Amino acid sequence: MKKKLIAGNWKMNGGLAANEALLQALLAGVGTPACGVAVCVPAPYLAQVQALCAASPIELGAQDLSMHAQGAYTGEVSAAMLRDFGVRYCLAGHSERRQYHGETDGLVADKAKAALAAGITPIVCVGETLAEREAGQTEEVVKRQLAAVIHANGHCISEIVVAYEPVWAIGTGRTATPEQAQQVHALLRAQLKLASTQADRIQILYGGSMNAANAAQLLAQPDIDGGLIGGASLKAPDFLTIIAAAQ
Ligand code: PEP
Repeated sequence: MKKKLIAGNWKMNGGLAANEALLQALLAGVGTPACGVAVCVPAPYLAQVQALCAASPIELGAQDLSMHAQGAYTGEVSAAMLRDFGVRYCLAGHSERRQYHGETDGLVADKAKAALAAGITPIVCVGETLAEREAGQTEEVVKRQLAAVIHANGHCISEIVVAYEPVWAIGTGRTATPEQAQQVHALLRAQLKLASTQADRIQILYGGSMNAANAAQLLAQPDIDGGLIGGASLKAPDFLTIIAAAQ
């Protein structure tokens, strides 16, 4: 059976002392989880988190990467640099990057490609805004976003992780119902099946105000293979409860 994946997205939160306290609490409680566990941390803390989580089940993730391999791209971080710190996963196309940094579908697809080329699993984020949902455009939007990634990555597509994150549910406390989420996950799965014979093994995570109280119901849906967790990943008891719900 496919393992679920629970990935925390710390966003631009934390600091040396806070990270250490959070990770010590997670390491004390995580045991041998039935699911994969990762934390996507701000780039300056990769070395710290790598050291603290060495020989633990908590894997290291980054929140963004450059589509370029190297060169005159001030401020950017390449996939190879992330790899140097043992990064296993990297978010690509989080809605906050699409919204505040103008990331296009094409750029996100190229970032996913750069990650794969360095042996990093991209967690490709897709999701509609509230206006798009209300206009009945959810299917069109998520399919367009995923199509760009499929187009750029060809047969490697089975190596990615997809995260369905309705923008209206991120950081708002408003979660998609398990049925709403499952409906979109099934669409994404069908789209992946057209592109790959391996589509059943691609993990499709749900993200958007997943928390200790609603995780079990969401994770029980047939096409929800894990969660991408923002706010609740900063609280060790909540994150541990979500990990325990991911059987
Ligand atoms: C996210 O940042 O990817 C996210 C899902 O955030 P939150 O869980 O806080 O809604």
